[in-house]
Amino acid sequence: MSTKYIFVTGGVVSSLGKGVASAALANILESRQLEITVMKLDPYINIDSGTISPIQHGEVFVTEDGAETDLDLGHYERFIQSKMTYRNNYTTGRIYNEVICKERKGDYLGSTIQVIPHITDMIKEKIIACGYGYDVLIVEVGGTVGDIESLPFLEAIRQMGIDFTRRNTMYIHLTFVPYIKTAGEIKTKPTQHSVKELLSTGIQPDVLICRSDDLISSSSLNKIVLFCNVNNNAVISLINLNSIYKIPKLFNKQKLDSYVCKHLNMIVPKANLSVWDEVVYKEENTIYYVTIGMIGKYVKFPDAYKSVLEAIKHSGLYNRTLVDVKLINSKDLENGDCTLLNNLHGILIPGGFGCKGIDGKLFATKYARENNIPFFGICLGIQIVFIEYVRNVLGISEADSVEFNPTCKYPIISLINKCSNNKYEFINNSNLGGTMRLGNKKCLLSSNSLARNLYSSDIILERHRHRYAINKFLLKDIINTELFISGISLTNKLIEIVEIVTHPWFLACQFHPEFNSTPLLAHPLFIGFINAANKHKNNN
Ligand code: GLN
Repeated sequence: MSTKYIFVTGGVVSSLGKGVASAALANILESRQLEITVMKLDPYINIDSGTISPIQHGEVFVTEDGAETDLDLGHYERFIQSKMTYRNNYTTGRIYNEVICKERKGDYLGSTIQVIPHITDMIKEKIIACGYGYDVLIVEVGGTVGDIESLPFLEAIRQMGIDFTRRNTMYIHLTFVPYIKTAGEIKTKPTQHSVKELLSTGIQPDVLICRSDDLISSSSLNKIVLFCNVNNNAVISLINLNSIYKIPKLFNKQKLDSYVCKHLNMIVPKANLSVWDEVVYKEENTIYYVTIGMIGKYVKFPDAYKSVLEAIKHSGLYNRTLVDVKLINSKDLENGDCTLLNNLHGILIPGGFGCKGIDGKLFATKYARENNIPFFGICLGIQIVFIEYVRNVLGISEADSVEFNPTCKYPIISLINKCSNNKYEFINNSNLGGTMRLGNKKCLLSSNSLARNLYSSDIILERHRHRYAINKFLLKDIINTELFISGISLTNKLIEIVEIVTHPWFLACQFHPEFNSTPLLAHPLFIGFINAANKHKNNN
């Protein structure tokens, strides 16, 4: 079977959950035994999301092969089996960059380079490459229909409907159906306008997915059918749910997957979504309850920590625990007041960049270490652990990271090439974009360690995204047995995991385990952490 394409666009407003909707549809189709992957096209001009503040589009999701991508790719991986790669996320900037590089090489043989056909051809080439070998590729177009920036993407997907025929392509448009309080009714007009806008690009949607606070009445659904020129079983209502894990069943109940399979002429087995029943059951029937403090600087933007929050949720499902995550601004800890840390059953320091709020993170780490509170440090978190320990336990107050203090006297956190046994191949330029240690790296675990115990494996593969590392050459003489290095990278011998053996549960890692956690397969480190938080609660 040649690849079928499903294009998902959004209208009316942004943040409707197109990513989750695409992932949920992908999940149902996967359960119908189709090989499926999902791609995101982002209209912004950055080459990738690596240099964008997490305040703007949320976290940077890192793929196994080291691409710094949009957070929606995290949703895709959490809902389907296939792993995301560099091919699954393209931005306008990356498309233009490739076209311009080709032009400089002279590959266009004297042509004038234009949006149509050169940019649109490049977009189509990338879509086709991403779907290669799969039965179905879902392509999510970022932004909202009507944005100037997304026009080349819409034009490219319109052309694909002609190139591959309408039997092999499908357009799904996600819109918002607001409830107007004063009128006491929901309004379909924004949806009608948004479809009109989409039509102006030459795309007639086959299916509408309508986000709304409440169920949409059949008379309103009929109105949408009539005005938007779609079949009467092609309007799907996506009401606000208390769990995203309920979406696959909600779609399936409205026969979205059957409609898609029929349109794309795919004769496949029925969907089996029973796994979600168990997930939802566990979510609604928790036995334990813990409070975890996450100390970060983007506390007003939970999307900045999307995968960490999801991974905590997954391990909560595994441990039958409702986890209340308190996002604590590290700045608020800098006055030395520990009130915000009282009554926590676990403390987590997630990844981060720059020197803002570091003192608060050091304070929280010291508090967890001294008060035997389960502690989990991720990426920046492990660097904080070392600085805190060397300063406060070993008494070397000048210990710091060159990231926060480039001229510090005791740079125990240094650029990676200074910390590696082998000559570390740093991408040799001063650019910030795409030059970190990225993606999957193997790590060797020490026997008898907490990490080895949790992973039940000697070698693990985890994703990275960091520029600095622990300078073991500087630490050589002072590391003692309490601070136990339990994970070392296989090729560069970088410090990857540290534990405090005298503490009930204290572990920090240089990689990002959160990217490998799914609702059906919680991550061992998160499982261990939430389990320890439960124990801590019981003992105190
Ligand atoms: N800022 C640190 C570094 O670059 C940690 C990065 C992170 O937490 N992802 O090494």
